[in-house]
Amino acid sequence: MVLALFLAAPVWAGEAENLARAIQENSFDPQECYRVRDLALVIEDIKIYLTDGHLIFGKPVAGKRIAAAFVADVEGGDAEVILLPPDRAERRSLASYIHSPNLDEHFRTGLFLFTRDTYETVLAQLPSNSANRRAPEVGALLNEQFTPVLRNLSASYQTRMVLDLLNHVAGDGGLFASVLDSPVLGAFDLVYDPLRAEPIIAGQMTSRDNRLFLDSWCSFKTRSMRQAATPPAPDMALSDYRIEAAIGSGLELKAVTRVKVRLSRSGVRALPFDISPLMTVASATVDGQPAEVLQRESPRGNALRGGNEMFLVVPSEPLNAGRDYDFAFEHSGKVVFDTGDRVLFVTARGNWYPLHGLQFANYDLTFRHPRDLDLVAPGELIETRADGDSRVTRFRVRSPIRFAGFNLGNYARARVEHDPYVVDVCANRALQRDQRPQPSLPMRDVITLQPSRRATDTISEPFPVAPPNPLDRLKEIAAGVDAALEFMAGKFGPPALDHLTVSPIPGTFGQGFPGLIYLSTLSYLRSAPRSAGSLAQAQELFFQQVLQAHETAHQWWGNRVTTGSYRDNWLMEALANYSALLFLEKTQGGHAVDTMLDTYRTELLAKGENGAQVESAGPVTMGTRLESSLDPGAWRAVTYGKGTWIIHMLRRYLGDQRFYAMLADVLKRYDHQEISTEDFRRVAARFTPPKSDDADLETFFDTWVYGTGIPTLKMSYGVKGKAPALRLVGTVTQTDVGADFSALVPVEIHLPGGSIHIQWVRCGSDPAQFSVALKQPPTRVTLDPDRSVLRR
Ligand SMILES: [Zn+2]
Repeated sequence: MVLALFLAAPVWAGEAENLARAIQENSFDPQECYRVRDLALVIEDIKIYLTDGHLIFGKPVAGKRIAAAFVADVEGGDAEVILLPPDRAERRSLASYIHSPNLDEHFRTGLFLFTRDTYETVLAQLPSNSANRRAPEVGALLNEQFTPVLRNLSASYQTRMVLDLLNHVAGDGGLFASVLDSPVLGAFDLVYDPLRAEPIIAGQMTSRDNRLFLDSWCSFKTRSMRQAATPPAPDMALSDYRIEAAIGSGLELKAVTRVKVRLSRSGVRALPFDISPLMTVASATVDGQPAEVLQRESPRGNALRGGNEMFLVVPSEPLNAGRDYDFAFEHSGKVVFDTGDRVLFVTARGNWYPLHGLQFANYDLTFRHPRDLDLVAPGELIETRADGDSRVTRFRVRSPIRFAGFNLGNYARARVEHDPYVVDVCANRALQRDQRPQPSLPMRDVITLQPSRRATDTISEPFPVAPPNPLDRLKEIAAGVDAALEFMAGKFGPPALDHLTVSPIPGTFGQGFPGLIYLSTLSYLRSAPRSAGSLAQAQELFFQQVLQAHETAHQWWGNRVTTGSYRDNWLMEALANYSALLFLEKTQGGHAVDTMLDTYRTELLAKGENGAQVESAGPVTMGTRLESSLDPGAWRAVTYGKGTWIIHMLRRYLGDQRFYAMLADVLKRYDHQEISTEDFRRVAARFTPPKSDDADLETFFDTWVYGTGIPTLKMSYGVKGKAPALRLVGTVTQTDVGADFSALVPVEIHLPGGSIHIQWVRCGSDPAQFSVALKQPPTRVTLDPDRSVLRR
C-alpha cells in the first residue's frame, strides 16, 4: 500500500543530479590562472586579501565559475584574512580556540567555493594593478595539485551549491565557503552562507577520540543583518503531515510522508529539506507529479546543520507563492535497533521524516509494524488492528506540534486517567542485556547527570543485589508523571497535548517530545546505589525523579513555548529542569533541590578535559557549540547545571509569587511561539520587586546569562552606635571573577523577636559596602544562607 504509489515514478538523472556531478567532477582551468597582487574579497564582515601569489579559477559549471584556489607560491607571497566578531561572547569564543579575540591571520593557500559573483569581483579588480597577468603555465601545475582537494571539499557543499545554481541566486546572494591553510592555525573553515540564521562562521573540523567535531570558533549575523530592523520572513511553511510508515521484521523503516508546502516567494526551482543522514529519500512528487530528489552525503554540511542532512526536491515546474503544494516523499532507512530481547533503540527520533526547520504542524501517523511490538506516537490513538503478521496503528495530532517521534517495543503498560489528561507508561517486558550507556549510538538532547569518572562508575554498576526488573517502577512512574503533570498544569496551564505517553529508551538520557516522552531504561529500575554520599544520592534522585519530571516539563517548555535558535535552547532546558526541581521540592522537600543544585555547582567548578574550569567554557547562550573538542562535556554541565542555577537565582530575586506569575506569563505570551533569551529577560523584568536594584535585569543577564564566572563572596560587618540608633555596616568582597562581573547577593539580618531583614548587596570588582539602620543589635547576620547566588 505504502510503496505502490511510487512504482510509477521514473528514476532519471535530472538537472540537480547533473549539476551535482559537474560540481563533484570540476577541475581548475589553467587558462584562468592569474599572477595576482593586492586583490580584496570583502563579504560582509569577512575580509580576505590576496596580497601576492597565484589565483586559479575552476572550469564553469552551468556557465558559472564556482571555485578558485590561491597559493602564495612566489617570493614574498602572502595572503591575509581578517574577521572581527561583533560582540564579547564571540570574541571570547574565538580567543578560546586561537588565543586572540580577532581573526587576523596570514595564510599560504586558500580554496574557495562560491555561487555568488566572486569571479566577476576578481576580474573587475585585475586591471587595477599592472603586476596582475594571466599565468597559464603555473595554471597547469596548480590544476594538478589542487583538483583533488577541490573535489574533496566540493563533496561537502555540492547539495548547497546546486540549490543556489538551480534557483539562479545571483550577485552577492550566494554561498561563499573557504578552507584556508595558515602556518599557525592549520587548515580552518570560513563560511558565509546567507541561508543560515548566522551566516558567518569560522571554525575547524577536528577529530578527537574517533569523534568528528566542528569547533565553531565564532558564528554571527552579518553587518547588514545587524543593522536591519526586522528579521527575514520564513521562506517555506509546512503543514498537515500525513505519514504512512512500515517497520519490517528486520526493523527497517519505509515511509511515505505527505505534507503541504507553502512558499513566500515565486519561481522557486529547488527546495531544501532536512532529514536524518540514516534516511534515504528515494523519490518525491509535488501535486502528484514526479520531482527530482538530490541527497548526498556531507559530513561537513551535517556538522553545520546540527546532524541533519540537507536534500533537495526539484519539481518539474517552478513553484509559486500563495498556494499549498502537496509534497510526497518516499524514504527509508535503519533507525530502529534491537539491543536484544526486543528492547529497541530508536536513533532518529525527531528527524526520521523530511522537515524544514522546526514548524508547528498537525500530524496523521499510520504505522505498520511487527505484530509482537507495541508502537507509541503522539496524539490520539485512532485505531490499532492486527493484519497477518503485522499490526497497523494510527495516531492523529490535532493540536500543532513541531516534531513527531515514535517508539516501539514489547511493552507492559500502566495508565492513569486524570480528566482531562491521560498518562500511559510503557515498560519493556525484558531487561536490556547491557544496562550500560551506549555511547556509540548518536544521541540528541542528551541529559545525563555527570561526566566524571566516579559517577560513570556508579552508573555502570548500580545494581549489585537482586536482578533488576524493568516493570518494578511501572506504576510508580505513571503516578509520578501524572502528579508532575497535575502540578505543572496547575502552575502553567494545559500541556502541549492531553495524552502523554512515556516509553523506554536504552541509555542514560531522556527526551521530551510533544505527547511522547523517551525515558532512560535506568529510570525503570529500582536502583540500590552501593556507595553513599551526595553524588550517589543525586544520581538516584536524577533517574528516579528528576528525569521524568524534566521530560514532563518539556510538554510546556519546548513544546508549547519554543525557541528558534541554538542560542536560546538553554532556556527550554533550564526551565524544564527547574520545573522538575519545583516538583521535587513539593514532593521531597527543599533538601532534594539543594542536593541537585550542589551537584550542579560541583560539576561547574570541576576541571574539564582541557584543564579549565568547566563553567568557563562559555555562556549558556553558546548552546551546543560548547560541545567542542576543547571539552565535549561542557555543553551539558553549562546548559543544564548553570541554566538551572540561573532560573533558581531569578526565583530567589523575584520571590516565589512573582516568579510563578512570571512563568505563567511567559506561557501566555509565547504560546506556540518562539521566545528568545532577550524576550525572556523583558518578561521577567516585568516581575522584579518594587525599587529593584536591577529592574530591567540587564546586569543579571549580562553577568549570568551572557557571561561566565562563579564568584567567591566574603562578608565582614560590624555594628556602630548605641541602641536605638544603631547602624550595621558591612562589606561584601567578590573575587575569582572578571572585572565586569556583578553579583547581587542577599544579606540576611536576624533581629531579636525573630523578624528578618534582607539587604541585597550589589557586588563588583571593588568591595561593596552596605549599611542598615537598626534599633537593636542583630542576633545573626548571614551572607546568602539560602543558595540565592551560584558561588564557590
Ligand atoms: Zn531536556
